[in-house]
Amino acid sequence: MEISKRYWNSNATAMTAYTPGFQPPPDAALIKLNTNENPFPPSPKVIEAVRQLPVDYYRLYPPALWDTLRMSISTAYGVPEDCVFCGNGSDEILSLIFRTFTDPGDRLLLVDPTYSLYPVLASASGVQTDKLPLSQDFTIDFAALPVNGYKLICLPNPNAPTGMLAQRAQLENFISRFQGLVVIDEAYIDFSDDPEQSSCVPLISKYNNLIVLRTFSKSFSLCGLRAGYAFACNSLIAGLMTVKDSYNMNIVTQIAAAAAVSDMEYMKKNSRIIAEIREQSRRHLEELGFQVEPSQANFLLISHPKLKMAELHRFLVNRKIHLRYFPELPEYLRLTIGTREQMDKFFLNLVDALD
Ligand SMILES: *Cc1c(COP(=O)(O)O)cnc(C)c1O
Repeated sequence: MEISKRYWNSNATAMTAYTPGFQPPPDAALIKLNTNENPFPPSPKVIEAVRQLPVDYYRLYPPALWDTLRMSISTAYGVPEDCVFCGNGSDEILSLIFRTFTDPGDRLLLVDPTYSLYPVLASASGVQTDKLPLSQDFTIDFAALPVNGYKLICLPNPNAPTGMLAQRAQLENFISRFQGLVVIDEAYIDFSDDPEQSSCVPLISKYNNLIVLRTFSKSFSLCGLRAGYAFACNSLIAGLMTVKDSYNMNIVTQIAAAAAVSDMEYMKKNSRIIAEIREQSRRHLEELGFQVEPSQANFLLISHPKLKMAELHRFLVNRKIHLRYFPELPEYLRLTIGTREQMDKFFLNLVDALD
């Protein structure tokens, strides 16, 4: 039946939905390097915690304020509990940030390219987006970013889909000057060379306009459970608390995420392996004539002077290897770092494509 927008509000009517990457059911024959999932399983402690969950927990409502999980995050990061927020994926927290802090007609500042969910959430809230193109080398020219006239800026660090990491000192200088809220989305920071030195989490005690987003999806291998968290001063967290659904995170996710954050060593070890495979893959790609952007995340943005990326994408899909093609970035493909075995198969097929 044809879609009627008769009862839709004006924001929903005007907007275009986010396009998620191809998400088939798990299939060992398929090499899925398209949505930045972690190729390794979550910590065995996570699986054990979920297995041990007493059946009564399914019957009862979950802790509305994620007590155990929030305490575990607070301990692991050395941040007071009232500066920690948890959500159904960091995407939900992003959505709540718009619903809590923006009014229709406010403006959102983004760099371009960046995570394409931000403008979708903005338009759902009647917020206008301005995009400032990144430099040719995909770095952010902080001096060129306006600091007035915007309610909000969302900056992933490392950025997506480029993988480019900005230095904390540069970000701090910008946060101190920006007149609106700054969201630093650290979805990929655990894959960077020195996460502790690069993270903006220590800055939340200093700046009352800063929200740092984290997720259990990427480095903790828990995309399917939907668990995100955020750090900010207690005034911003209190705002999010006011607007959130009463039970915004289910009990299985809370238990699993608490177990994951209590096993940091496991996450860090996997993240180092992925960073290592990333650098080997970069060298290999460059030998094959690809241009590879300098990434500090679990993916590489690649292009080739002689190959059409849309065609290469199709070629690989026919071989059951999925990379991400963004129609708005037709010269590039984004390659999620998989296991060594997956990357070997990818390279075997890539060489065929180059023949
Ligand atoms: C993957 C990703 C997220 C989403 O994380 P979830 O916690 O799975 O919702 C947020 N921001 C960026 C930049 C991402 O790439």
